[in-house]
Amino acid sequence: MQPRDLSDHVAYEAGRGIEEVARQLGRDPSEFVKLASNENPHGPSPAAAVAIRETASSVSSYPKAAHADLAAAIANRWAVDDEQVWLANGGDGAIDYLSRATLEPDDTILVPSPGFAYYGMSARFHHGDVREYALEREDDFAQTAETVLSAYDGDRIVYLTSPHNPSGSTIALEAIAEIAAETDDDTLVVVDEAYGEFADRDSALALIEGRNGFDARDDVAVLRTFSKAYGLAGVRLGYAVVPDEWADAYARVNTPFAASELACRAGLAAIDDDEHVERTVETTLESRAYMREHIDTHVWESEGNFVLVDVDDASTVAEAMQERGVIVRDCTSFGLPGCIRITCGTDDETERAVETLNAVLEDLEIECEGDGDREGDGNEDETETEVADT
Ligand SMILES: *Cc1c(COP(=O)(O)O)cnc(C)c1O
Repeated sequence: MQPRDLSDHVAYEAGRGIEEVARQLGRDPSEFVKLASNENPHGPSPAAAVAIRETASSVSSYPKAAHADLAAAIANRWAVDDEQVWLANGGDGAIDYLSRATLEPDDTILVPSPGFAYYGMSARFHHGDVREYALEREDDFAQTAETVLSAYDGDRIVYLTSPHNPSGSTIALEAIAEIAAETDDDTLVVVDEAYGEFADRDSALALIEGRNGFDARDDVAVLRTFSKAYGLAGVRLGYAVVPDEWADAYARVNTPFAASELACRAGLAAIDDDEHVERTVETTLESRAYMREHIDTHVWESEGNFVLVDVDDASTVAEAMQERGVIVRDCTSFGLPGCIRITCGTDDETERAVETLNAVLEDLEIECEGDGDREGDGNEDETETEVADT
């Protein structure tokens, strides 16, 4: 017996962890900082950590009340109906629910390239195909209605990532409204706002609810996660907010109890812990500005909790930084072999990352002197491997 033909599918390969790298290099984990997976440098919301400990003794029960309470708390937060909040096992789980709710075999989805790999993975799990629109490095990965619509061909789902991973670019609500209006009635526009808390932008929820002067739409969904600003990547909790016209499909696509008791209790505590989110956002803004100002090469403007950096040869630079104890994301697998992505850390972590990167760049410069033939970094030679990276 064999599984079905999975040759189109790619393995989910997460950013490298400290333990893994330390073991491989035969070094002590305490020597490393990890700025590779856009995790929260302040850890989880302290209130969520307490809630997780307090919930320990009741995990023998299925999560029912906690699930309903969290959906209500999130709904209240966004002023939508509880049914419009589709809680899931991480933002990735919410992507799966949207795939389940919309895709028929051979339907296509349209995704950004470079971009977040799980959109395509999820579509393939649901027997769909993946098409891409290009975000051009030369245009600083600008996201416009034109970029997306010129590639659109009746796809069932169009994914927009705002702020975009790995570039940090955003798309204006007006452009999203235009895309939703110009695409077919049964095309769903999913706006992935995994990094929404770090951006000085309104949520695309305004388009679902008809706020800020927009008409209410039934073909836009918004994705959010507790993994980034709330520091709960390890508990796996995220959600989609969907139009109330089809919100009741949740009952038919939800894996029973996929958002665990621990996750729901942690989420309930975290959503009220404004102080932790505010502190996280403040640190992020400082780190972002510091990196843009002090890194000795081009750093793209970013609205996320990370920056994309132009280094010519990402694998060499990422490896050299890792040798010196700073783990960053080599973006070769995103189709950007000339770029690394650095997560915003605490002040100390950020300073160390900048110092290390500048030293590595300087050493490479010296090595390369007289050798004008440095590798190009065009994003045209995309690799076949997609790496789903958070
Ligand atoms: C991190 C991330 C998500 C969601 O991650 P989860 O940990 O599954 O919640 C979704 N989209 C993008 C672009 C991300 O970077």
